Amino acid sequence: MAHINDNYLKLKAGYLFPEIGRRVKAFAAANPDAKIIRLGIGDVTRPLVPAVLDAFHKAVDDLARAETFHGYGPEQGYEWLIDTIIGKSYKPLGVELKTNEMFMSDGSKCDCANILDIFDLGNVVAIGDPVYPVYNDTNVMVGRTGEVDAKGYYEGVVYLPCTEENGFTPDLPREKVDIIYLCFPNNPTGTVATKEELKKWVDYALAHDAVILFDAAYEAFITEPGIPHSIYEVEGAKKCAIEFRSFSKTAGFTGVRCALTVVPEELMGKTASGERVPLNKLWNRRQSTKFNGVSYPVQKAAAAVYSEEGWKQTKEVIDYYMENARIIREGLKAARLTVYGGVNAPYIWLKTPEGMSSWDFFDKLLSECHVVGTPGSGFGPSGEGYFRLSAFGHRENVEEAVERIKKKWGK
Ligand SMILES: *Cc1c(COP(=O)(O)O)cnc(C)c1O
Repeated sequence: MAHINDNYLKLKAGYLFPEIGRRVKAFAAANPDAKIIRLGIGDVTRPLVPAVLDAFHKAVDDLARAETFHGYGPEQGYEWLIDTIIGKSYKPLGVELKTNEMFMSDGSKCDCANILDIFDLGNVVAIGDPVYPVYNDTNVMVGRTGEVDAKGYYEGVVYLPCTEENGFTPDLPREKVDIIYLCFPNNPTGTVATKEELKKWVDYALAHDAVILFDAAYEAFITEPGIPHSIYEVEGAKKCAIEFRSFSKTAGFTGVRCALTVVPEELMGKTASGERVPLNKLWNRRQSTKFNGVSYPVQKAAAAVYSEEGWKQTKEVIDYYMENARIIREGLKAARLTVYGGVNAPYIWLKTPEGMSSWDFFDKLLSECHVVGTPGSGFGPSGEGYFRLSAFGHRENVEEAVERIKKKWGK
């Protein structure tokens, strides 16, 4: 009998979303007339914009004729897409990238996980708490950790608490770590890091020969000037950081699938014997062997996001979600709740009133307001006492949910 990867058994059973589903279902069964509003989702709800859809359709039609048919594309992505992204999205930030430093993929979730292929298991990894669970669980799966403790921390991982005290931007680790996951704008807290804060991490990574894995899935939602959209806006970051971006939230591609990973040529790792090797070469090899590229129509659709019309329409959708975020944020504040995020990210991170636990607040919000959110404790122990609301819903639902919350807590 084949021996399994025992590391999978160390994972806690998928608990958060199944448990939310179970409680919502039970409530709905007992209260068939309640109109339940779901603000727990991390998925977009607006359709693809016309300019993107048009390019998508045209590219599908290309596949119907021998003269314009496309088979396998480059594993790294088409140059016309990569150069468009570099020119339209990185250059304006003052970031110069070469075509061979960007790799198109079918998702940032996948890339955040796959990137572990090119690193030795002996590396010490630092992860935020609360956190996007993918960073943690993929390290468990490859066998970099021991067992989980009663609090939910895995042995061997350095957890970086993101708390009210540090403005939800973690403090530098006291021990030496080799790989650091950072996500800004952050899911779940909706908070951002200033350039100074990112510089602190870049300086740490340069001083300790560490690599930063920077997840910028929500960069397009930044509304305030001066907040970095890319870690490469910080000097020296090309020597120590890999950046992930995705079309999922930016352009509603959660079901279409397109993302990118930047691995600068200057970024080095070392071999067992201490030789320096560019990570770009390794990632290129990894992708060429294990990946066969994003489909042609999807890459055409992605390029259309950056056309004049495409970006105007895309920005309107982003603004729609960010207006939702503003409505939630202002409404909760008016209800005298303490809220974070929602200004540069489509998530609002609220402090549960009266010191309630995340799950107690979940039950109260469901039973008294018929609103569903996500308990902060589901994202890590330091999320206890917090609660995430998403701005990806429909406007009418967002407005009604906020009115209900105001009625309950705004007195
Ligand atoms: C949604 C999300 C992503 C995007 O993942 P895709 O696989 O590209 O859809 C990446 N990171 C975080 C933190 C996210 O919330």
